[in-house]
Amino acid sequence: MEKQITIMKNQLPKPLPELSKNEIRRKRLIGKVLTYTLAYLTSEFLKRDFEWLLPVILSKSTDPLWPDKEASIEKRVKLNIYGKIVHPTSSMIVHKIVACSLLYPKIFTFSPNIRIERKDRAYTGIHAYEFTQLDFEVRNATSQMIRNLVEEILCGLIKSLKENLHEELTSLGRCESLKVPESPFEVYKRKELEEFYGKNWKTQVILKSENPVWIIDIPREFYDFENNRKEWDNYDLLLPKYGEVLSGGRREWKYNKIIKKMDRDYLRKKDYRVLLKLARKGRLKPSAGAGIGIERLVSWIVGASHIGETQLFPRIPGVIYEL
Ligand code: ATP
Ligand code: ASP
Ligand code: MG
Repeated sequence: MEKQITIMKNQLPKPLPELSKNEIRRKRLIGKVLTYTLAYLTSEFLKRDFEWLLPVILSKSTDPLWPDKEASIEKRVKLNIYGKIVHPTSSMIVHKIVACSLLYPKIFTFSPNIRIERKDRAYTGIHAYEFTQLDFEVRNATSQMIRNLVEEILCGLIKSLKENLHEELTSLGRCESLKVPESPFEVYKRKELEEFYGKNWKTQVILKSENPVWIIDIPREFYDFENNRKEWDNYDLLLPKYGEVLSGGRREWKYNKIIKKMDRDYLRKKDYRVLLKLARKGRLKPSAGAGIGIERLVSWIVGASHIGETQLFPRIPGVIYEL
């Protein structure tokens, strides 16, 4: 993704012990918004009968984050434990698809993700090397059902924050400028936007819009559904004047298609043995879902100058603090 916010070197978030009194005060306010947001989102998913799963951190099979034209991973972390190679979770997509197929029809989890983003991503203001996704999946859902659910929850969250955290939002300077989004959000095909705006389409859409915008039909990893006309049944959500906060899609579940796509993407099939075996036996079920970047969502709500402001211990690409 292109740079949406450009941060100067001396504006990168400082570590907690180095914050001034005012900065500590601001951090506390942001923390209140984060707590409220987590509680609100959790209660909305529970209300709708989702099962709440705990995350997995280390496993053989994680999101390949490839091919994604806009991916910017500098290094893929491997660990050798008990004589086996495992990876810290880059996203829980594989586990979500399996859990949703075999166990529960509706699931969500707050999933810590590790992505060693390129150092220059420190200055986009929206990338961290550790962050949390609210990842959810629904068996037999359509993309439209997931987009409706997200709109309902996001609009409800902002309305509820404005009612209940009025003082905090005022102190953060966001009381007026943070508007409850208008649902339904507009939906655009990625290709059409690129044809219209050119290479920098994403920045243009983000700067021009006053309301969240759905982008659909995005070439991505093997797990998102692609029809025989090479159209992808997936979506990103862009927040106005901010950037991407969510990616998701309807999923592939048929063995032959998954294999073909893995070959096309040069993926190592041995990293996805269980997923492939389940698909071959017809045990994967159609599903759709998405992942919301919690720190990005809160950054947008509070008007953070950098995503690291929403993290108690900032995880800025290329910057390693002791804590
Ligand atoms: P981007 O193009 O902005 O780098 P992405 O498309 O590679 O993001 P996804 O793989 O779609 O990211 O991840 C799902 C969601 O997780 C994103 O929509 C975003 O909210 C969040 N996310 C992804 N990467 C990061 C990151 N490095 N720091 C913080 N949040 C992130
Ligand atoms: N969480 C995303 C999804 O549900 C996958 C990702 O992280 O890209 O599609
Ligand atoms: Mg994405």
